[in-house]
Amino acid sequence: MTDIAIRIVGRAGRITFTRAQALNAMTYDMCMAIDKAMRAWRDDAAVQLVVIDADGDRAFCSGGDIAELYTTGTRGDFAYGRRFWRDEYRLNALIFEYPKPVVSFLQGFTMGGGVGIGCHGSHRVVGESSRIAMPECGIGLVPDVGGTFMLALAPGRLGEYLGVTGTRMAAADAIYAGFADHFIPEAHWPALIASLETDGDAQTVAAASVAPAPSALAEAQDRIDACFDGEALTDVLNALDADDSTFARDALKAMRRNAPLSMACTIEIVHRLRGPTITLRKALELEYRFTFRAMEHGDFLEGIRAAIIDKDRNPAWQYAGTDVPPVAVSRMLQPLGADRLIFEPREGGMKIGFIGLGNMGAPMARNLAKAGHEVTGFDMAPVAIDGVVMAASAHDAASSADVVVTMLPNGAILRSVADQIIPVMRPGATLIDCSTVDVDSARAVAAQAEAAGLHAIDAPVSGGVGGAAAGTLTFMAGGSDQAFAVAVPLFEAMGQRAVHCGAAGAGQAAKICNNMILGVTMIATCEAFALADKLGLDRQKMFDVVSTSSGYSWSMNAYCPAPGVGPNSPADNGYAPGFAAELMVKDLGLSQQAAESADADTPMGAHALLLYKAFVENEGGKGRDFSAMLPRFEKRGRGG
Ligand code: NAD
Repeated sequence: MTDIAIRIVGRAGRITFTRAQALNAMTYDMCMAIDKAMRAWRDDAAVQLVVIDADGDRAFCSGGDIAELYTTGTRGDFAYGRRFWRDEYRLNALIFEYPKPVVSFLQGFTMGGGVGIGCHGSHRVVGESSRIAMPECGIGLVPDVGGTFMLALAPGRLGEYLGVTGTRMAAADAIYAGFADHFIPEAHWPALIASLETDGDAQTVAAASVAPAPSALAEAQDRIDACFDGEALTDVLNALDADDSTFARDALKAMRRNAPLSMACTIEIVHRLRGPTITLRKALELEYRFTFRAMEHGDFLEGIRAAIIDKDRNPAWQYAGTDVPPVAVSRMLQPLGADRLIFEPREGGMKIGFIGLGNMGAPMARNLAKAGHEVTGFDMAPVAIDGVVMAASAHDAASSADVVVTMLPNGAILRSVADQIIPVMRPGATLIDCSTVDVDSARAVAAQAEAAGLHAIDAPVSGGVGGAAAGTLTFMAGGSDQAFAVAVPLFEAMGQRAVHCGAAGAGQAAKICNNMILGVTMIATCEAFALADKLGLDRQKMFDVVSTSSGYSWSMNAYCPAPGVGPNSPADNGYAPGFAAELMVKDLGLSQQAAESADADTPMGAHALLLYKAFVENEGGKGRDFSAMLPRFEKRGRGG
């Protein structure tokens, strides 16, 4: 990834934001890359501490990258944002609770999501250019990423003030407010980082730290306490109105730009947290109640629209300053029940029924069990899978499950299994079909499930048996937001990416198009190898060139059909499937059936179907991997 550099240098796990042109704004992928590295380093004895810094002199990290949140949220897809926040907050907790020192170097802007990465470690270093802030109320959120934890612990009423005004703190202020620990002149940072890498000793940080200038916030503390000690936002606004000072006027000016609902909730969160039982997890859990609802019920989408999309800086907030009803605050902060923030995926273990445990289903079920879910499986054929309890029937596997996953050969079998299990599934449970089937069957089963009070999602996969075993599948999902949100943690346990493609059937539509490309490229790759043979070209050389040239594709690079060449693939195993040629006939047939009903011209897909059909029916292809097209072409000449 180009936006972040993650490596081990000497004794230090090293993370550097390298997206300086975007003020190091953090995308979801960057967040997950940090999470993955830190979890690995936690148990790696070679890593004694973690050092986090950033390229460029303008920002450590200016916040989470909110553009994608806006795009998905305005489509009515709230699941992406919820997942982003959930996973980001889990990372914030991981940094805070890390068993090894975490040293961060916070030059320039450290805001929002940047605070979540930079201000929860054990050694937080600031310098001359540091400007730390929680400006979320300006875009209709509340200070999150654990920011309310520091706000609630800050002296007096400073937390309320910083939270609702978004005031930028210079180094001395950040130390005073509890967002940073050490002031070290920035010119000394490179040498300090080098010594941390070499020695792995975090004590050198304190030794290098010098006294900062006096804190302006400390000087304003009495006034802050006087104006911000009210019960609710209205009290604070009234107190500021009554105070004829520059401080009060500046605070009011900042607050006039911000979303009143967000400010009212910020004050409420800080008040709820303050006290002896405060923990970071409690803060994150409360923040998540707000962010979970922020797109649907808060001002978040309007806030982003005004700030970064239309840039008119004229948001139409839901409430005026003094008019936020207490019930609106309660509604945003009421407990989320089953949707609550869970820190360790294991805590959220579900009861899963898994039906269809063949080449794909077996490793997928194993990965679900490994992730801490309670998996009960059923297949017509006898199978045994680590961690999966086998049931005597589909009915038994499904009847007490929160979620049933099916991974079956085709639409007719899916319909018949659906007839058996839908009547016995628990109301409110979710049916996730991961098989590749025709769009009509997917829609019919979804409708049948919904009529029975269940949620349904069609989520065919790409990535093959290798991806199923490694837990790196891609899921293409069709169904409601609610069903998708339930499925996301399971997709994460079985894969690396899930795309919510639209309503019921949309996942199958995406899958059918993808596999039409796959069938065509595999044939093209096989015929090109056979031609290369006849031209006297060495297969390895052919692979070396094509895999790095414009002819590359997944068929060549990840699933090379030539034995002994490229990564390990079914070709290296006598073309045992893998992905059987008859399944490719099925998928190409589905694409042609779909093209027929949609009146789409798909000549390459149609020809690929003819070739695979002939291969399976007349040329010994049945039961072989779909890449066995290569030995087929090897035997043939121009005349067939
Ligand atoms: P498979 O034939 O190995 O597995 C299907 C399993 O379903 C078998 O174990 C079979 O016994 C079981 N089954 C059939 N009818 C049943 C019933 N009524 N009740 C319970 N179990 C039943 O096939 P696979 O390769 O695992 O593929 C499964 C699905 O995934 C297919 O729809 C396929 O198109 C799709 N898919 C496969 C791959 C791949 O590389 N193999 C990749 C992507 C998608």
